[in-house]
Amino acid sequence: MAYSYEAPVSQSLFDRASVVTPGGVNSPVRAFRAVGGTPRFMVSGTGPYLTDADGREYVDLVCSWGPMILGHSHPEVIAAVQEAVSRGTSFGTPGEGEVVLAEEIVARIEPVEQVRLVSSGTEATMSAIRLARGFTGRAKVVKFAGCYHGHVDALLAAAGSGVATFGLPDTPGVTGATAGDTVVLPYNDLDAVRAAFAAHPGEIACVITEASPGNMGVVPPADGFNAGLKELCAANGALYISDEVMTGFRTSKAGWYGVDGVRPDLMTFGKVMGGGFPAAAFGGRRDVMAHLAPAGPVYQAGTLSGNPVATAAGLAQLRLLDDAAYAKIDAVSAELRSLVGDALSREGVAHTVSAASNMFSVFFTDRPVRDYEDAKKQDVFRFTAFFHAMLEQGVYLPPSAFESWFVSTAHDERAVERIAAALPAAARAASEATA
Ligand code: PLP
Repeated sequence: MAYSYEAPVSQSLFDRASVVTPGGVNSPVRAFRAVGGTPRFMVSGTGPYLTDADGREYVDLVCSWGPMILGHSHPEVIAAVQEAVSRGTSFGTPGEGEVVLAEEIVARIEPVEQVRLVSSGTEATMSAIRLARGFTGRAKVVKFAGCYHGHVDALLAAAGSGVATFGLPDTPGVTGATAGDTVVLPYNDLDAVRAAFAAHPGEIACVITEASPGNMGVVPPADGFNAGLKELCAANGALYISDEVMTGFRTSKAGWYGVDGVRPDLMTFGKVMGGGFPAAAFGGRRDVMAHLAPAGPVYQAGTLSGNPVATAAGLAQLRLLDDAAYAKIDAVSAELRSLVGDALSREGVAHTVSAASNMFSVFFTDRPVRDYEDAKKQDVFRFTAFFHAMLEQGVYLPPSAFESWFVSTAHDERAVERIAAALPAAARAASEATA
């Protein structure tokens, strides 16, 4: 595919990066391999906008893959960071900021009785699984195809996000021994979960699921799916782990738990709670968390866990996320969904706009998408054309058909108008695209 627009400074940075960094990026999806073209090197962000190294401005619908729920450079978050930095950047001791952030999480999310702070979502899910295994004395972990829980070895099997984008069936480097205790099941299929418990009696430590998946595109749980998982786990002595790294503090004040009310044994968080800094967490039942060192025998640690700057950023962001903020994000998301759907319908492009609260994505198919197999059947080549037409007109979408789009409180009328203006040409490009 030829691109009619250029990004010479980004291209030269990418060339340099490719010499010193594998693939030129520090996280695979950033490389634009699924869509082709030059990845944009961003130099600044303000509100709903990003500016790249060539001086072009984009309306940002990635929001750093979720964290920037107040938009970029929110003045109150920046002020909290500056204040924290002025007192030092890391002490390797406990600090008050960690306590206040933990209290805020516990106050918002009722099933979280205790919480441990870490630095990435990957660390959170890795630690939650170790804890579940340590608590139950069992080895096996059930996960769902298309759900991504970070690059934890045992959880990379049939994962979504970048793994889906690149169509990797398995990742070299993950040994059979590591992945051998992972049972991968189709999403939204409770019968498959029942069968797994029957096939492995007394062996399954936990079922981990994205609270509402956003890493195979947005595929919400069918009615009763999460409640069914919870019930099956309870009946079989396994823990139910809800991964809310993406949905946490985004889909409502209490994340997806605030939407469906199904009470997990353990939960994982990241993204929004770090305010754009590396902060994440896992937490849940007090009796389970009590097994964690130094209270209990399951080891888990981190040099920068509870970092004072990251906790200050996260806390400032969470405190600004009141009911009005969520109402605003929900409204912008609804407006964009209808604009995108209308534009694609006008051009006769088969599509499904799939939403879970304010998270959404577009599948280029009109068949229902309930799991990863369905998601893969879309016309990805149409997304590619759509993506580049939007990029050319200054709208930055996730560079993959298997990712959620994210909006923020900063997406105001002007930003929405710019997206609306770009949609007709992008829909046309999608309709004219050929495989
Ligand atoms: N879990 C989910 C649901 C995610 O979406 C992600 C990242 O996208 C992770 C875990 C991993 O988080 P991190 O990239 O911070 O390691």
